[in-house]
Amino acid sequence: MTPVVPVKAAKTVKKAPAGDAAPARSAPQRALDKLGLLRDIDLALHLPLRYEDETRIQRLRDARDGETVQLEGVVRDSRIESRGRRQLIIRLDDGTGDVQLRFLNFYGSQQKSWGAGVRLRVRGELRMGFFGREMMHPTVRIVTPDTPLPTALTPIYPTSAGLPQAYLRKAVESGLLRAQLDELIPPHLLPRPWPPLREALHLLHHPSANTPLVTLEDHSHPAWQRLKFEELLAQQISQMQARAERAHLKAPVLLTRPQGLQDKLLAVLPFQLTSAQRKVCEEIAGDLQRAQPMHRLLQGDVGSGKTVVAAVAAAVAMDAGWQCALMAPTEILAEQHFRKLVSWLEPLGVKVAWLTGSLKAKAKREQLAAVASGEAQLVVGTHAVIQDQVAFAKLGLALIDEQHRFGVAQRLQLRSKLESSELEPHLLMMSATPIPRTLAMTYLADLEVSTIDELPPGRTPIVTKVFADSRREEVIERIRDEVAKGRQVYWVCPLIDETEDSDKAADEAAGRSMNQRPPLDLSNVTETHQELSETLQGFGVGLLHGRLPAADKAEMMARFSGGELSVLVATTVIEVGVDVPNASLMVIEHAERFGLSQLHQLRGRVGRGAVASVCVLLYGSPLSDTGKQRLKAMAETTDGFEIARRDLDIRGPGEFMGARQSGAALLRFAELNEDADLVVEARTAAEAMLQHAPDAAQRHVARWLGYKSEFLKA
Ligand code: ADP
Ligand code: MG
Repeated sequence: MTPVVPVKAAKTVKKAPAGDAAPARSAPQRALDKLGLLRDIDLALHLPLRYEDETRIQRLRDARDGETVQLEGVVRDSRIESRGRRQLIIRLDDGTGDVQLRFLNFYGSQQKSWGAGVRLRVRGELRMGFFGREMMHPTVRIVTPDTPLPTALTPIYPTSAGLPQAYLRKAVESGLLRAQLDELIPPHLLPRPWPPLREALHLLHHPSANTPLVTLEDHSHPAWQRLKFEELLAQQISQMQARAERAHLKAPVLLTRPQGLQDKLLAVLPFQLTSAQRKVCEEIAGDLQRAQPMHRLLQGDVGSGKTVVAAVAAAVAMDAGWQCALMAPTEILAEQHFRKLVSWLEPLGVKVAWLTGSLKAKAKREQLAAVASGEAQLVVGTHAVIQDQVAFAKLGLALIDEQHRFGVAQRLQLRSKLESSELEPHLLMMSATPIPRTLAMTYLADLEVSTIDELPPGRTPIVTKVFADSRREEVIERIRDEVAKGRQVYWVCPLIDETEDSDKAADEAAGRSMNQRPPLDLSNVTETHQELSETLQGFGVGLLHGRLPAADKAEMMARFSGGELSVLVATTVIEVGVDVPNASLMVIEHAERFGLSQLHQLRGRVGRGAVASVCVLLYGSPLSDTGKQRLKAMAETTDGFEIARRDLDIRGPGEFMGARQSGAALLRFAELNEDADLVVEARTAAEAMLQHAPDAAQRHVARWLGYKSEFLKA
């Protein structure tokens, strides 16, 4: 959970007084900052992950092996031994039995102070060792017979490297004491008799020993409910405010002209829109003809045909004399959109500009000039589209594909770009990460949602097979059959070391670091490429990964989609959006290393034409239990909604809007699927509070979201 550097947030972060050099921050202080624990209230709202019960002492005679226990006894013997490794061995006697405490890492001073006759209180897991019962590295405290036991459970907080639990505990403690915790929510707006905020927080940080632990752990305790409600309320208020703010903004009115560009586009398409596509096109057209900026999420499963809907919306806007921008998260996807849109729209007289980070200076200048003069009506590209040097003559509609793949910082940048113009452009975001409809309507109070709920006709469902990688050769034979029939094949390797710039930014925003990624040597994409080139002689085998220069990537992709290459060995650079309908087999190596939604996206690269497609998930043995569950889920369903649901079961929500992923977790406590009732209640309360207690509503949002409130609008 590493928050991104907030772009607009700087103003809310405490600054050192002018003239003073900022005092040096210690490592734990910096770690606190990084966790976003900047204010007293942030610390007070940093809730324990779990608790340890140090309120009682167990007797060795009654304790079971494997149990984590707290014991108190007298040291009988303390010495350093060499059992393979130098270690400190202490024999502790609690009057009912004795136990060996073993320390592989220890200071000489510890041996001295934990000498024979000293009374120790220790906590750790009891187990049966070669030399009898033992505890490895227990926590140790020197006590006297009358040292009191704590009366509350000991909180264990979520933390990060460089931030010791004890330091964090003290910081939270003082934050809790100093934070303003007055009641802001009018009592009659609380749907249930929950404790006041102050009481709820004290209880959660220091539950008394008789609090049923399970209600704390499953978050069903009234104090937890209160906190979740508070959080959801803040989120709802903030979204309602954003919506209200937008209602005052003006956007160009974009009317659909009969027999206009839209109809011409529909006439040149090689297919008819499905009724689901027509329905969402109408919803979008309805928004475009209003003078307020559209703020709509277009969701639809992988392959449901969102691109053409975007093109239709663009046609409406351009026909009305305005420019459109389409932004995609990877260069490969942007390039594909560019080709497709050029082929559809240029014959109709539309000039399409192309903007990515890898353009040569001269080409870039030309493209920028075409955008600035208005000569280019449509601009397609990566996040380069929203960079500072880009000035639109007359931007009327911004389209963002795979919006969940953009980092929060990029979404904020886009917003500020949009806001800088006099008339704000309309905004359409596309995503294949489905949100259950009812949830979307209540939770995303600031967003309209359109859903394409049917796939284009004539698709044969993809069959998914799960094989151990010992069957690799068999799979390669399968590829031979397929390419001999003139079909095409993707082979995906989990070599995720390489990313394009926009991916990298998204990664950083998501707090994913290189070391969380699969190590490079485990599955070498170039070796696989070589292996397949050798075994499949006579067929073109291509190689595509993020480290290739942009031009090579584009060329490789073009050769594959043009049919010159039969097999494309690729990394996840092809994850989103890539569309080659003749590809009918996908092999995913080390499938267990991918997330479910990622597998779903990848698999969505096949099954795009009429031929029956197969996806083979190869896994490395042994497979963990969750790994098994996940691959089983993939084999059992191709429905994106169902996969999202199962993913939630395994991972928890918050990922709907890329929230938890993006580090600036929008919801820390509430769980959308479990707390659906609370969402509805919070929505009702938010409306009432905005109306009857607007100042308190404001303070509530500031208390809960602080600088994060900017992210909520992003
Ligand atoms: P996604 O929703 O995943 O972005 P795409 O827009 O890439 O899906 O569309 C997937 C494929 O389906 C493309 O090849 C596209 O041309 C095709 N397609 C889209 N709409 C239709 C339709 N109504 N009938 C037939 N094919 C369609
Ligand atoms: Mg798409």
